[in-house]
Amino acid sequence: MSRVVVIGGGIAAYCAALGARREGAEVVVLAKAPGATALYSGAMEIVDDLDGVLKSEPNHPLSRLKLDAVRLSTELDTAIPALLLALEKDGLKVEGTWRSRGNYADVHGLARPANLVPATVAPGELRRLAGRRVIVVGVREVGDYDAASTAQALTELHSIEAQPEEASIPDLPVGASLTDLYGRRAPQTRARAAALAYPPGLTNLPDGGFELLSSTPSPHGWRLQQAIGLGTVRTEVSDVQSAGPRITAVVAVEKAYRADAFVLATGHHIGGGLLKEHRVREPLLGLGVFHDGKPLSTGAARLQHAEYLDPAEQFHTGLLTDERLHPLAADGRVEYENLYAAGAVLGGYAYAGPCGFGVPILTGWLAGRWAARDGR
Ligand SMILES: Cc1cc2nc3c(=O)[nH]c(=O)nc-3n(C[C@H](O)[C@H](O)[C@H](O)COP(=O)(O)OP(=O)(O)OC[C@H]3O[C@@H](n4cnc5c(N)ncnc54)[C@H](O)[C@@H]3O)c2cc1C
Repeated sequence: MSRVVVIGGGIAAYCAALGARREGAEVVVLAKAPGATALYSGAMEIVDDLDGVLKSEPNHPLSRLKLDAVRLSTELDTAIPALLLALEKDGLKVEGTWRSRGNYADVHGLARPANLVPATVAPGELRRLAGRRVIVVGVREVGDYDAASTAQALTELHSIEAQPEEASIPDLPVGASLTDLYGRRAPQTRARAAALAYPPGLTNLPDGGFELLSSTPSPHGWRLQQAIGLGTVRTEVSDVQSAGPRITAVVAVEKAYRADAFVLATGHHIGGGLLKEHRVREPLLGLGVFHDGKPLSTGAARLQHAEYLDPAEQFHTGLLTDERLHPLAADGRVEYENLYAAGAVLGGYAYAGPCGFGVPILTGWLAGRWAARDGR
């Protein structure tokens, strides 16, 4: 049996562990803290236009795998159901498929596309609600959410017959905010309607009740983080040991974790997989960091002034991999043959865009499977 160590505690690391276990490996996941996964809104975007990505984005992590659309689709057809099954076992039911998208409203009534959503969000798909009566439940004690404005937005933007109703949760702290609702029982409404939109975080929703998507901090992200965090070792990897082109162990708080292969799923700036100093760098192994296919270390890829004003461009910066997800050094070589990289630490794509979860899920899944085969 091969042994795989995964570094990271987000969705990419979770999928890497799933993929490696699917191949029969013994897996240890080392995670220092929650990352960007814990902040997501509740709307998992997998991929919108796979053919378009492969045709026009050569540095996109999915293009760099050099697999055609049929093979990538097949991998997604396996990875997504495996993920949904694992999440359900870990206490979070998520619904949907990567092949279709719905639109779901956030707490302000604005729509976000998603392929996968928690089962508690799914009944709020906006096209299904058009023309129907929906009660938007407010909580009188909460100051940063206004059910009346949300209902107005749902009516004006999505043609829903939305009406607000204020309920009360008297034991909330003074000046309560949305996050104070987390884990509390959903209040009952007086009005009757087939659909009831609740702010996120409440439990025991009544029949017809669904949750809106979150802004940050996110109850949906926190629930997901709790599910994927089960079974991880809470520690920070600070060093690696290697022999020639192979990593032999990673070191976390003076303990060495030996393995046949390693998956780096340390996230982007929020997770800590990349550090923004004068120039962005990868702190653990000093791997190459690229923008638009060019290494930052040569200075050739310094962003133009205007691009600094648009943070979305910054988020295209990250590691580059070969077609087996081995990360490259700045000179384009594969430095460690048993190291794989997955998730938001990779560059070349819109980090919070139409593949926001698709890249971490698929690269994580493949990195885990390939890492597991490494040690056989
Ligand atoms: C505010 C916000 C909202 C978003 N909303 C959406 C959305 O609604 N839909 C969508 O599709 N996408 C969304 N995204 C994007 C999506 O959340 C991320 O792309 C995805 O969660 C990245 O997952 P990851 O596992 O690669 O990284 P992360 O979740 O950041 O995980 C990285 C992990 O690595 C760990 N780590 C780092 N260094 C070490 C170390 N040395 N030792 C041990 N552990 C380490 C970190 O502690 C962390 O646990 C959003 C992003 C943000 C920031």
